[in-house]
This record gives sequence, structure tokens and C-alpha cells, in this order.
Amino acid sequence: MTNNIYFIANWKMYGSASSLNYLNKLINLSKLKKYRNAKIIYFPPFTLIQSFINKFKNTKIHVGGQNCHHIEDYGSFTGSISSKMLKELGCKYVILGHSENRIAGETDEDINKKIHSALNKNLKVIFCIGETLKEKRKKITFSVLKRQINKGLKSIKNFNNILIAYEPVWSIGTGVIPKDKELEFNVSKIKRIISKKTRYKLPILYGGSVNNKNISNLKNIMGIKGFLVGSASQSSKKFIDIIKKTIN
Ligand code: PEP
Repeated sequence: MTNNIYFIANWKMYGSASSLNYLNKLINLSKLKKYRNAKIIYFPPFTLIQSFINKFKNTKIHVGGQNCHHIEDYGSFTGSISSKMLKELGCKYVILGHSENRIAGETDEDINKKIHSALNKNLKVIFCIGETLKEKRKKITFSVLKRQINKGLKSIKNFNNILIAYEPVWSIGTGVIPKDKELEFNVSKIKRIISKKTRYKLPILYGGSVNNKNISNLKNIMGIKGFLVGSASQSSKKFIDIIKKTIN
């Protein structure tokens, strides 16, 4: 059992080459003994992956892709990137099942195929799940999470390379976060659903409007092993603040 705390920076469709200049302070922080358990992973847009990998060379900061195709090799799929290509670049991780892709039409079955393709190429998967506001209001959060987990992880045998990011859709980019009790309750439910599939304890991360103000509270939520940070991760000052306030 490790005490790693994950800090995922999801840059979505933002960032340019000049963004790299702001990462030096973060690199310095990652080298301090105090932060040795901080697992920092950046997910820039595909266009910047190579530059980020160069930037983080000889550091313990990793880089991942924000998505991949379900075919794990090369293929005639215009506009797509495969898990093989991410791996060849030096990526260690990939985010799959993000709600912004689910909303754009990605199904649980698509996500399951992508997870298989990523694991086959030895990528670690940040598997995103979460209910919409409508589902929360209908009080079907549990069955939604159960469906997403069971379908997304169908036929998976090796759970070692999977991390779950619980991201209530109504919290992403809205500034609204779940109440402590609700978050703890949903995390415990997720653990229960997963415990029916494997004895391996998958790290559960929280994502949705995490910032350098609410982190002091969020870090105390039971059962959470880290955070998936969207917009606040694009400011290295805010992202550093989030890491510092979590590990103090
Ligand atoms: C996300 O990108 O998954 C996310 C949680 O974004 P934000 O932190 O901006 O809500």
C-alpha cells in the first residue's frame, strides 16, 4: 500500500508552447523530499505532449493523453490517436471516459474498448465516472455509477493500472462541489461496487471545480487519493498551491 497522492492536470483544449515556461516552479517543487508522495501527471492537448515530455525529462512528473482510439495500433482513423502512439511518445497515462467525451457521444462500450486498448499497451488509465445533474435529481446516482463501472471495466482482469476519477458532471467547470457527506457517501459506494469486481484497492480521485481555495476542505474527505484538476491546473501558481495545501 503506498501513500501516493495524485494530482492530475487536465488541460483540455488549452495551452500553447509558451505555457511550458510556467512549469519550472512546479518542477522544483516536485523535487523536494516533502512532496515525494505527490504523483503529478499532466494531460496537455495532443499537440503539446512531446514538448511536455521533453520539459519533464529527468523529473518524476509524468505526461498522459486526454483520450485514445479503441484500436490500439496504427490505423486509418483520421483525427485519432492510438494507445500505441501515446506509449511511443513516452506517455504513461491516458484519461478515458471523461464526461466531455461521454456528452459528445462516447458510450460505456466505447470506453470499455478504449480501456482494454490502453491496458494492452501498458498505459495507466484514469477512468472517469460521474452522474449528471438530472441523474442526481432523479436520485439514480448509484445505479449510474454502477453501470459506468460495470460496463467500463467489463472483462478487465488486471486492475493494477486503473485509477478511478469520480467527477460529478454538474461539478465540472461550474464552481459547485458536492457537500462533504455526499462526496464521502458516493466514494464509499464506488468502493463497494469495485470491491465486487476485484480485491485490489483502486485509488479513487475526485474531480470537479477543485481549486486552491476549496482544496483545504476537499483534502479531508475520506477515501480520496488525489484530485483531477481542470481549469485551475492551467495556472501553475494555483496548481502548486493545491499541491502545497494538500501536503502540508
Ligand atoms: C475536468 O477537466 O475533469 C475538471 C474537473 O475540470 P474543472 O476542474 O475545471 O472542473
